[in-house]
Order: sequence, then C-alpha cells, then structure tokens
Amino acid sequence: MRAVYVKKPGSLEVMELPAPSVGKGEALVRVRAAGICGSDMHIYHGTNPLAEYPRVIGHEFAGEIVALGEEATPGKQALSVGDHVAVDPVTSCGACYPCSVGRRNVCSRLKVFGVHQDGGMTEYVSVPAANAHVVPKEWSWEKAAMTEPFSIAANVLSRTECVASDRVLVMGAGPIGLTVLMGAVLIGARVAVADVLDSRLDVARKLGAELAVNSERQSLEDEMLKWTGEGVPLIVDAVCIPALFPSLLRMASPAGRIAHLGFSERPAEIIPLEITKKELSIIGSRLNCNMFPRVIEWFGKGLDPEKLVSHKFPFTEVRGAFDLIEEKPLETRKVLLTF
Ligand SMILES: [Zn+2]
Ligand SMILES: [Zn+2]
Repeated sequence: MRAVYVKKPGSLEVMELPAPSVGKGEALVRVRAAGICGSDMHIYHGTNPLAEYPRVIGHEFAGEIVALGEEATPGKQALSVGDHVAVDPVTSCGACYPCSVGRRNVCSRLKVFGVHQDGGMTEYVSVPAANAHVVPKEWSWEKAAMTEPFSIAANVLSRTECVASDRVLVMGAGPIGLTVLMGAVLIGARVAVADVLDSRLDVARKLGAELAVNSERQSLEDEMLKWTGEGVPLIVDAVCIPALFPSLLRMASPAGRIAHLGFSERPAEIIPLEITKKELSIIGSRLNCNMFPRVIEWFGKGLDPEKLVSHKFPFTEVRGAFDLIEEKPLETRKVLLTF
C-alpha cells in the first residue's frame, strides 16, 4: 500500500509500505479522504515539538471498514465490514489521572494518529474499533473526513458550555475559527469574528457571523463594547498571538469565559486583577474528548462542512497540495486528499 510519509523534517513522499494487519479490538480502514491540517505542515517542517519521526501523517480521515479483528464491537455501536467511518485520532491509556476524570484527550500517555503513531494519509490503517465512528453512507468521503476538524470546535464549545443565549467572539477566521463559528451558529449563539483579512471576513459573514471586524482597521475593543454593552461572554481565541491576550481579558464580560487553542511557547503579559475582578474562566481546549458523535449529529442537523473545503487532490499529488497551502494561504481553506 502507499502512504504519505515524512521520513524526517523537510521530506515528504508517497512511499510503498507493508499493509497493516488487523489486531484484536481493531478495525482495518480503507482510507478514502484525509484533510491537511496546519499541524501536518508543522510535522513536515519540523516545527511540531510533539511529533516523532519517521511518520505517516494525517489525523483527519475517513474511509470504509474492510476487516474487523476479534472483539471489535465496542460500546453501543456494533461495527460491520462495509461501514463508512470517520476516525477519532485520539488514543489514551485509560489509567492516568486525566483519563480517570474523563479527559482522555489530555491523557498523560496520549497518542494521536499521524503525530505520535502512523496516521491516516495512507491507503490502509488499523485503528481501535472504539475510534471508528459510523457515518451515513450517503455522505461524501470529504464530508466524513471533516468530522475531526469540527471536533476541535465541538470540544471548545463544550468546554466553555456555549449555549444559544451566548454572544461569542471568535478570534481568527482561518479554518479553525470558521469551524468554531459554524458550530456556535448551529447552537444558536450570536457570533462576531475578528481577522485582519477582508476575504476571510467575507467568508465568515456568509457562514453566519453577525459581525465581522477587521481588527487592523477598527478597534476591536470598541466594536465589542458597542456590540455587547458590557463585554463579551465567550471569547474563543483561534489566532493565539500571545501579545493579544491582555486585550482578550479586557474585552471579556464579568463572568466571561476565554478559550485558548494555541501552541505558542512565548509568554503573554496578563493583568491578574482582570481575572479576579471579573471572575473570568480561562479554558484550554486541545483535540477532542469523545466529540465525534456530537459532530456527526451537527452534520445531520444541516451544518455543511463542505463549505470549508476549497481544494481536493489525489494523495499522490500531496506535494502540490502542500505547496498550494503555503503559496496561496488566502485562497485555500480546507484542502483534502482523496485515496
Ligand atoms: Zn488538524
Ligand atoms: Zn491516560
């Protein structure tokens, strides 16, 4: 079988590899579509401190079950050969403290497909049956592969308990910011989006943003005060520039929540008084914790993830796909590989 392989930072090739066997409790998946994520680019460039090499990359993937190992019928959902599945890339140990309190996505021995173990940009991959979530057969493979990117949004909106009466500011109209926008709109919240690129803000408006603010031309703090009168109840930071953090604290309403999705190692200067005075909740959100069923429900309720798909490439042209993302960041939203 062929797979997209990063032997070491800076190398990216389609390699012939032995097909995996299917072990106890596993499902063998014939992959049909896989999304390219910013973190795949970081693994390729050697700028993901968590990645290990060599690696078959890809953590946003969907395909068809072609074989099941013994005892591969987890929980409520029985799997069958022929099922179409979206694969949750998060695997956990089940024994550490975070696992014991139901937070498997921050497991102390966390292993993510495509990061710490070989992933989904391949023709065949064996995954724990519990990670394979059945999707309707009428969905396109591209739609099924979008489950993982939307699980990031579902996780942050779950962690921050976003409800229909919320007003939400999404910082950043890149792929992650847009998934958060679409999820919050489906929940029924009123959403503002901030970015510095008008083309991205136009997309945000089309996807349901009530307010789209170019924070280079307008004062975002003034706009948010005008919009809410008292500060923003929920801010989701999908830009994650540490220097902007003090401004998030100022924009949050008393009793507000600020969610952070970034991986910056640079410090941010914060004024602790703001946190205490307003009793703010500052919440990290990483990957997803059992959110695939919720996202599959969202897609069933009419959230159309294919609105975020801008390009598709056969996986053999992965290099061209990566080049496009790097050379035309404004024209690309989600780029998918088909297998
Ligand atoms: Zn991703
Ligand atoms: Zn664990």
